[in-house]
Amino acid sequence: MKKQSILLIYTGGTIGMKEDPETQALKPFNFEQIQDEVPEIRKFGCEIDSVSFNPLIDSSDVEPSFWVKLCKTIQENYDRYDGFVVLHGTDTMSYSASALSFMLENLEKPVIFTGSQLPIGMLRTDGKENLISSIEIACARREDGHAMVPEVCIFFDSQLFRGNRTTKYSSENFRAFKSANLPPLAEAGIHIKYNKKIIIYPETWGKKLEIKTTLNTSVAVMKLFPGITDSIMEAILYNPEIKSVIIETYGAGNAPTSQGFLSKIKRSADMGKIIVNVTQCQAGSVNMGTYEAGLYLEKAGVISGHDITIEAAIAKLFFLTGYTSDFKEIKYLMSRNLRGEITLE
Ligand code: ASP
Repeated sequence: MKKQSILLIYTGGTIGMKEDPETQALKPFNFEQIQDEVPEIRKFGCEIDSVSFNPLIDSSDVEPSFWVKLCKTIQENYDRYDGFVVLHGTDTMSYSASALSFMLENLEKPVIFTGSQLPIGMLRTDGKENLISSIEIACARREDGHAMVPEVCIFFDSQLFRGNRTTKYSSENFRAFKSANLPPLAEAGIHIKYNKKIIIYPETWGKKLEIKTTLNTSVAVMKLFPGITDSIMEAILYNPEIKSVIIETYGAGNAPTSQGFLSKIKRSADMGKIIVNVTQCQAGSVNMGTYEAGLYLEKAGVISGHDITIEAAIAKLFFLTGYTSDFKEIKYLMSRNLRGEITLE
C-alpha cells in the first residue's frame, strides 16, 4: 500500500502553549517546538507536513471566519493528502468539529481534531498520545484502500468520537470530551479498534469535496429555567435580527404549559423564526410526544432537535439558514440526519 500523507493543521490551543515568564499565563508557541517535543512525528511511516495558522489562537477566539479558513485549507490540500489532523484548543473544539462536519460536503478523508489538557512540553502531557494516535487514525485504511474513518472526528484520551456528537465536559480531566448519545467510533488500546458499524461511509466514493462557507449566524439559544422572565423571553423570541431560536428545554423536551409561554412561542414561530427544541440533559433525546408540555410545543410549530448536542444544533442552523432561506426546507432538513448528528428511530 502506498505511503500515506497527512497534513497537520496547527491552529493553537493548550497543546502548543507555554507559560509566559512575566504573567504566568499560557501563550502559544510555534509548530517547530511541538515537533521538538514529539520527535516521534518524524519517525512515522507516513509523510507528515504541517501548516500553522497565523495568528495561533486560544480556541475561545474561534469565529465562523476561522471555520471558513480551516475548510479552505483542507480544500486546497485535499488532493495532496490522505488525511488531516487539526490541532485545536479544547474549549470550542466541539463547535468547530460540528461546524466542519456540515461545511465539508462529500468528505471522504479523515479530519481528526485533537488537542490536550496539558501543554505538550509538560512531563505528564496528554498531548503526545493524542497527537500520535490521531495521526495513526488519519492514516488508517480499510482493506479496499479507502479511509477507515472518512468523517470529522475528535480524538481525545484514547477515544475517537464523531465530532458533531461531542461536548467538552471536563475542564481538568484528561477525558475532556463526551459523546453521550453515540458510542466512540474507535478506541485506542494496544490496538486501535474501529467500530465500523457506526462509522459513516459514502455510498459511492470519488465525489468532489465541496465546502459550504455561507453561514447565517443569527441564531439565539434560550435556556429555560424556572423563573425566566417574560421580558427576557420576548427579547429573544421577537427580536427581528434573530432568525432561529434554540430552546434548551427540560428532560425529554418539556417546557412550561402556561398560555403566556406558549403564546410567545407561537407568535415567534408565526413571525417566521425557526424554533428548535434541544434538551438541557447531557444524554437522551427530545420526544415532544411524551408529555403534554412537549406536545404543546410541537403544536406551536417547534421542531424537535432529537438527540442533537447544543454545539451541533447551532452549527446546523448556521449552515442551513446560510444555505437556504426557504423556511419549509430548513424545517425539513433540521429534522433529517445529515451528517450523523442525530439518531432517528
Ligand atoms: N483555552 C484553551 C483553548 O481552548 C484550552 C485548551 O486548549 O484546552 O484554546
